[in-house]
Amino acid sequence: MRLEGIHHITAITGDAPQNVSFYAGVLGLRLVKKTVNQDDPTVYHLFYADEQGSPGADLTFFEYPGAIRGRAGAGMVHRVVWRIASEAAIEFWARRLTDAGVSTERGEGTLRFSDPEGLDHELVVVETSDEPLIAEHPEIPAELALQGFEAVRAYTADPEASRTFLEEGLGFAPDEATEFEVRGEHRGGRYVYDVTDETGRQGAGTVHHVAWASSPEEHEAWRERALGAGAHATPVIDRFYFRSVYFREPSGVLFEIATIGPGFTSDEPLEELGTHLSLPPFLEPRRAEIEPRLTPLPDPRAAGSQVLRAGIPENGLLEGEA
Ligand code: ZN
Repeated sequence: MRLEGIHHITAITGDAPQNVSFYAGVLGLRLVKKTVNQDDPTVYHLFYADEQGSPGADLTFFEYPGAIRGRAGAGMVHRVVWRIASEAAIEFWARRLTDAGVSTERGEGTLRFSDPEGLDHELVVVETSDEPLIAEHPEIPAELALQGFEAVRAYTADPEASRTFLEEGLGFAPDEATEFEVRGEHRGGRYVYDVTDETGRQGAGTVHHVAWASSPEEHEAWRERALGAGAHATPVIDRFYFRSVYFREPSGVLFEIATIGPGFTSDEPLEELGTHLSLPPFLEPRRAEIEPRLTPLPDPRAAGSQVLRAGIPENGLLEGEA
Protein backbone atom coordinates (compact mmCIF):
# COMPACT_ATOMS: atom_id res chain seq x y z
CA MET A 1 0.00 0.00 0.00
CA ARG A 2 1.49 3.33 -1.08
CA LEU A 3 0.11 6.87 -1.02
CA GLU A 4 0.11 8.51 -4.47
CA GLY A 5 1.86 11.74 -3.50
CA ILE A 6 0.05 14.97 -2.66
CA HIS A 7 -3.70 15.03 -3.36
CA HIS A 8 -4.41 18.69 -2.55
CA ILE A 9 -3.20 21.54 -0.38
CA THR A 10 -5.71 23.79 1.38
CA ALA A 11 -4.92 27.34 2.48
CA ILE A 12 -6.80 30.39 3.72
CA THR A 13 -7.63 33.61 1.88
CA GLY A 14 -9.15 36.79 3.28
CA ASP A 15 -9.71 38.18 -0.22
CA ALA A 16 -11.38 35.76 -2.64
CA PRO A 17 -11.55 38.10 -5.69
CA GLN A 18 -7.81 38.86 -5.43
CA ASN A 19 -7.17 35.15 -4.88
CA VAL A 20 -8.92 34.28 -8.17
CA SER A 21 -7.00 37.02 -9.98
CA PHE A 22 -3.67 35.71 -8.71
CA TYR A 23 -4.09 31.96 -9.04
CA ALA A 24 -6.19 31.84 -12.22
CA GLY A 25 -4.93 35.08 -13.79
CA VAL A 26 -1.23 35.21 -12.92
CA LEU A 27 -0.31 31.58 -12.18
CA GLY A 28 -2.68 30.33 -14.87
CA LEU A 29 -4.30 27.56 -12.86
CA ARG A 30 -7.85 26.56 -13.71
CA LEU A 31 -10.60 27.32 -11.19
CA VAL A 32 -12.09 23.84 -11.28
CA LYS A 33 -14.64 24.14 -8.50
CA LYS A 34 -16.42 27.06 -6.95
CA THR A 35 -18.23 25.75 -3.92
CA VAL A 36 -18.81 26.67 -0.29
CA ASN A 37 -17.15 25.62 2.93
CA GLN A 38 -19.24 22.63 3.96
CA ASP A 39 -18.91 23.66 7.60
CA ASP A 40 -19.83 27.31 6.90
CA PRO A 41 -21.75 27.74 3.62
CA THR A 42 -21.72 31.55 3.82
CA VAL A 43 -18.14 31.51 2.44
CA TYR A 44 -16.35 29.95 -0.51
CA HIS A 45 -14.18 26.94 -0.86
CA LEU A 46 -12.27 27.53 -4.12
CA PHE A 47 -10.34 24.78 -5.91
CA TYR A 48 -7.63 25.47 -8.49
CA ALA A 49 -5.90 22.75 -10.47
CA ASP A 50 -4.82 21.61 -13.92
CA GLU A 51 -7.27 21.44 -16.83
CA GLN A 52 -8.74 18.12 -15.64
CA GLY A 53 -8.96 18.96 -11.96
CA SER A 54 -6.46 16.25 -11.03
CA PRO A 55 -5.23 15.29 -7.59
CA GLY A 56 -1.57 16.30 -7.53
CA ALA A 57 -2.24 19.82 -8.81
CA ASP A 58 -5.15 20.90 -6.64
CA LEU A 59 -4.64 23.98 -4.47
CA THR A 60 -7.75 24.99 -2.55
CA PHE A 61 -8.68 27.99 -0.42
CA PHE A 62 -11.14 28.52 2.39
CA GLU A 63 -12.43 32.08 2.27
CA TYR A 64 -12.55 34.02 5.53
CA PRO A 65 -13.46 37.50 4.25
CA GLY A 66 -11.17 40.15 5.71
CA ALA A 67 -9.14 37.59 7.71
CA ILE A 68 -5.91 39.04 9.04
CA ARG A 69 -2.63 37.66 7.77
CA GLY A 70 -1.35 34.58 9.51
CA ARG A 71 2.21 33.44 9.94
CA ALA A 72 3.54 29.93 9.43
CA GLY A 73 5.24 28.37 12.47
CA ALA A 74 6.06 24.97 13.93
CA GLY A 75 3.41 22.42 12.95
CA MET A 76 2.38 24.22 9.76
CA VAL A 77 3.13 23.85 6.07
CA HIS A 78 4.89 27.03 4.99
CA ARG A 79 5.69 26.57 1.31
CA VAL A 80 4.09 24.99 -1.75
CA VAL A 81 6.63 23.61 -4.23
CA TRP A 82 5.55 23.23 -7.88
CA ARG A 83 7.21 21.40 -10.75
CA ILE A 84 8.18 23.18 -13.92
CA ALA A 85 9.99 21.76 -16.91
CA SER A 86 13.03 23.90 -17.63
CA GLU A 87 15.27 26.89 -17.00
CA ALA A 88 13.28 28.61 -19.75
CA ALA A 89 10.22 28.23 -17.52
CA ILE A 90 12.09 29.86 -14.62
CA GLU A 91 12.97 32.73 -16.96
CA PHE A 92 9.35 33.03 -18.08
CA TRP A 93 7.91 33.03 -14.55
CA ALA A 94 10.49 35.47 -13.22
CA ARG A 95 9.40 37.91 -15.92
CA ARG A 96 5.66 37.21 -15.65
CA LEU A 97 5.60 37.58 -11.86
CA THR A 98 7.68 40.76 -11.98
CA ASP A 99 5.29 42.18 -14.59
CA ALA A 100 2.42 41.41 -12.22
CA GLY A 101 4.17 43.32 -9.43
CA VAL A 102 5.31 40.23 -7.50
CA SER A 103 8.90 40.12 -6.25
CA THR A 104 10.81 36.90 -6.89
CA GLU A 105 13.97 35.29 -5.61
CA ARG A 106 15.96 33.13 -7.96
CA GLY A 107 18.14 30.16 -7.06
CA GLU A 108 19.67 27.39 -9.14
CA GLY A 109 16.70 25.79 -10.90
CA THR A 110 14.28 27.44 -8.50
CA LEU A 111 12.16 30.57 -8.24
CA ARG A 112 10.52 31.71 -5.02
CA PHE A 113 7.71 34.18 -4.50
CA SER A 114 4.71 34.84 -2.29
CA ASP A 115 1.06 35.27 -3.17
CA PRO A 116 -0.62 38.61 -2.36
CA GLU A 117 -1.40 37.38 1.17
CA GLY A 118 2.08 36.08 1.91
CA LEU A 119 1.72 32.36 1.10
CA ASP A 120 5.12 31.15 -0.11
CA HIS A 121 5.60 29.27 -3.36
CA GLU A 122 8.63 27.79 -5.08
CA LEU A 123 8.92 26.60 -8.66
CA VAL A 124 11.55 23.91 -9.23
CA VAL A 125 12.86 22.31 -12.38
CA VAL A 126 12.23 18.60 -11.87
CA GLU A 127 12.98 15.65 -14.09
CA THR A 128 10.25 13.09 -13.59
CA SER A 129 8.21 10.59 -15.53
CA ASP A 130 5.07 11.65 -13.64
CA GLU A 131 2.45 13.11 -15.94
CA PRO A 132 2.68 16.93 -16.11
CA LEU A 133 -0.60 18.34 -14.75
CA ILE A 134 -1.11 21.53 -16.75
CA ALA A 135 -3.88 24.11 -17.07
CA GLU A 136 -4.52 26.09 -20.24
CA HIS A 137 -4.04 29.85 -20.16
CA PRO A 138 -3.85 32.13 -23.21
CA GLU A 139 -0.69 33.88 -21.96
CA ILE A 140 1.18 30.77 -20.75
CA PRO A 141 2.66 28.27 -23.24
CA ALA A 142 2.00 24.67 -22.09
CA GLU A 143 5.72 23.82 -21.95
CA LEU A 144 6.29 26.64 -19.44
CA ALA A 145 3.21 26.08 -17.26
CA LEU A 146 3.13 24.79 -13.70
CA GLN A 147 3.00 20.96 -13.75
CA GLY A 148 1.54 20.09 -10.36
CA PHE A 149 3.05 19.68 -6.91
CA GLU A 150 6.56 18.53 -6.16
CA ALA A 151 6.49 19.01 -2.39
CA VAL A 152 5.27 20.82 0.64
CA ARG A 153 7.73 22.24 3.15
CA ALA A 154 6.60 22.28 6.78
CA TYR A 155 8.01 23.78 9.95
CA THR A 156 8.68 21.58 12.94
CA ALA A 157 10.49 22.06 16.24
CA ASP A 158 11.80 18.47 16.05
CA PRO A 159 11.82 16.50 12.79
CA GLU A 160 12.70 13.27 14.61
CA ALA A 161 9.41 13.40 16.53
CA SER A 162 7.51 12.46 13.37
CA ARG A 163 9.90 9.96 11.82
CA THR A 164 8.42 6.71 13.11
CA PHE A 165 4.87 7.82 12.38
CA LEU A 166 5.67 8.93 8.83
CA GLU A 167 7.85 5.96 7.91
CA GLU A 168 6.04 3.12 9.62
CA GLY A 169 2.52 4.55 9.76
CA LEU A 170 2.25 6.19 6.35
CA GLY A 171 5.03 4.52 4.38
CA PHE A 172 6.95 7.75 3.71
CA ALA A 173 10.44 6.90 2.42
CA PRO A 174 13.27 8.89 4.04
CA ASP A 175 15.41 10.67 1.50
CA GLU A 176 17.62 12.85 3.62
CA ALA A 177 17.59 13.77 7.28
CA THR A 178 14.52 15.95 6.99
CA GLU A 179 13.03 14.84 3.65
CA PHE A 180 10.63 12.11 2.69
CA GLU A 181 9.37 10.80 -0.62
CA VAL A 182 5.77 9.69 -0.90
CA ARG A 183 5.46 7.70 -4.11
CA GLY A 184 2.74 5.39 -5.34
CA GLU A 185 2.22 3.50 -8.57
CA HIS A 186 1.38 6.59 -10.63
CA ARG A 187 2.67 9.66 -8.86
CA GLY A 188 5.00 10.90 -6.17
CA GLY A 189 5.56 13.92 -4.01
CA ARG A 190 7.77 15.01 -1.17
CA TYR A 191 7.39 16.13 2.43
CA VAL A 192 10.23 18.32 3.67
CA TYR A 193 10.84 19.78 7.12
CA ASP A 194 12.49 23.05 8.06
CA VAL A 195 13.26 23.45 11.74
CA THR A 196 11.91 26.31 13.85
CA ASP A 197 10.68 26.78 17.40
CA GLU A 198 8.50 29.70 16.46
CA THR A 199 4.79 29.42 16.93
CA GLY A 200 2.66 30.27 13.95
CA ARG A 201 -0.73 31.83 13.64
CA GLN A 202 -3.41 30.51 11.30
CA GLY A 203 -4.78 33.27 9.10
CA ALA A 204 -4.88 34.57 5.54
CA GLY A 205 -1.93 33.34 3.50
CA THR A 206 -1.28 30.24 5.61
CA VAL A 207 -1.79 26.57 4.78
CA HIS A 208 -4.56 24.80 6.67
CA HIS A 209 -3.72 21.21 5.73
CA VAL A 210 -2.07 18.95 3.17
CA ALA A 211 -3.89 15.93 1.76
CA TRP A 212 -2.17 12.77 0.54
CA ALA A 213 -3.74 10.68 -2.22
CA SER A 214 -5.14 7.19 -1.71
CA SER A 215 -6.99 4.85 -4.02
CA PRO A 216 -10.66 4.59 -2.97
CA GLU A 217 -10.14 0.88 -2.18
CA GLU A 218 -7.30 1.49 0.28
CA HIS A 219 -8.75 4.55 1.97
CA GLU A 220 -10.25 2.83 5.00
CA ALA A 221 -7.05 0.81 5.45
CA TRP A 222 -5.02 4.04 5.55
CA ARG A 223 -7.29 5.30 8.29
CA GLU A 224 -6.61 2.11 10.25
CA ARG A 225 -2.86 2.53 9.71
CA ALA A 226 -2.95 6.11 11.00
CA LEU A 227 -4.95 5.01 14.04
CA GLY A 228 -2.58 2.10 14.60
CA ALA A 229 0.39 4.47 14.52
CA GLY A 230 -1.18 6.57 17.24
CA ALA A 231 -2.99 9.34 15.32
CA HIS A 232 -6.39 10.60 16.38
CA ALA A 233 -7.99 10.12 12.97
CA THR A 234 -11.50 11.35 12.18
CA PRO A 235 -14.10 9.02 10.74
CA VAL A 236 -14.27 8.96 6.94
CA ILE A 237 -16.01 12.17 5.81
CA ASP A 238 -17.72 12.36 2.42
CA ARG A 239 -16.52 15.59 0.76
CA PHE A 240 -18.56 14.71 -2.34
CA TYR A 241 -15.62 15.16 -4.74
CA PHE A 242 -13.52 12.78 -2.60
CA ARG A 243 -13.66 11.11 0.80
CA SER A 244 -11.43 12.33 3.59
CA VAL A 245 -9.82 11.34 6.87
CA TYR A 246 -8.00 13.97 8.97
CA PHE A 247 -5.39 13.72 11.70
CA ARG A 248 -2.36 15.59 12.97
CA GLU A 249 1.06 14.03 12.48
CA PRO A 250 3.33 14.22 15.56
CA SER A 251 4.92 17.54 14.51
CA GLY A 252 1.45 19.07 14.54
CA VAL A 253 0.85 19.43 10.80
CA LEU A 254 -2.76 18.68 9.85
CA PHE A 255 -2.82 15.79 7.37
CA GLU A 256 -5.71 14.51 5.33
CA ILE A 257 -5.87 11.32 3.33
CA ALA A 258 -8.21 11.84 0.38
CA THR A 259 -9.46 9.43 -2.25
CA ILE A 260 -8.55 9.74 -5.91
CA GLY A 261 -12.06 10.30 -7.24
CA PRO A 262 -14.99 10.55 -7.71
CA GLY A 263 -13.56 13.97 -8.66
CA PHE A 264 -14.79 17.33 -9.86
CA THR A 265 -16.74 16.10 -12.87
CA SER A 266 -19.23 14.36 -10.61
CA ASP A 267 -21.56 17.39 -10.67
CA GLU A 268 -20.59 19.40 -13.78
CA PRO A 269 -19.05 18.50 -17.14
CA LEU A 270 -15.29 18.94 -17.67
CA GLU A 271 -15.72 21.94 -19.97
CA GLU A 272 -17.83 23.81 -17.39
CA LEU A 273 -15.74 23.11 -14.28
CA GLY A 274 -15.71 26.06 -11.93
CA THR A 275 -18.11 28.21 -13.95
CA HIS A 276 -21.14 27.72 -11.68
CA LEU A 277 -21.58 27.61 -7.94
CA SER A 278 -21.54 23.92 -7.01
CA LEU A 279 -23.23 22.84 -3.82
CA PRO A 280 -23.04 19.42 -2.21
CA PRO A 281 -26.42 17.63 -2.26
CA PHE A 282 -27.18 18.40 1.38
CA LEU A 283 -26.85 22.15 0.71
CA GLU A 284 -28.62 22.24 -2.68
CA PRO A 285 -32.04 22.94 -1.09
CA ARG A 286 -30.54 26.15 0.40
CA ARG A 287 -29.08 27.50 -2.89
CA ALA A 288 -31.44 30.50 -3.14
CA GLU A 289 -30.36 31.61 0.33
CA ILE A 290 -26.60 30.82 -0.04
CA GLU A 291 -25.78 32.15 -3.52
CA PRO A 292 -26.68 35.87 -3.12
CA ARG A 293 -24.61 36.19 0.06
CA LEU A 294 -21.31 35.06 -1.49
CA THR A 295 -18.57 37.50 -2.52
CA PRO A 296 -18.76 38.40 -6.24
CA LEU A 297 -15.72 36.98 -8.09
CA PRO A 298 -13.99 38.02 -11.31
CA ASP A 299 -14.26 35.71 -14.31
CA PRO A 300 -11.18 33.50 -13.81
CA ARG A 301 -10.69 32.84 -17.51
CA ALA A 302 -10.92 36.50 -18.46
CA ALA A 303 -8.35 37.52 -15.85
CA GLY A 304 -5.04 38.28 -17.56
CA SER A 305 -1.96 39.50 -15.72
CA GLN A 306 -2.57 43.12 -16.75
CA VAL A 307 -5.69 43.45 -14.59
CA LEU A 308 -3.97 42.24 -11.47
CA ARG A 309 -1.47 44.85 -10.50
CA ALA A 310 -3.92 46.97 -8.56
CA GLY A 311 -4.58 44.20 -6.06
CA ILE A 312 -0.99 43.18 -5.36
CA PRO A 313 1.31 45.01 -2.95
CA GLU A 314 4.08 46.87 -4.76
CA ASN A 315 6.93 44.56 -3.82
CA GLY A 316 4.90 41.41 -3.17
CA LEU A 317 5.88 41.47 0.51
CA LEU A 318 3.69 41.79 3.57
CA GLU A 319 3.49 44.85 5.74
CA GLY A 320 6.28 44.78 8.27
CA GLU A 321 8.30 42.36 6.20
CA ALA A 322 9.91 44.72 3.70
ZN1 ZN B 1 -8.63 18.90 2.30
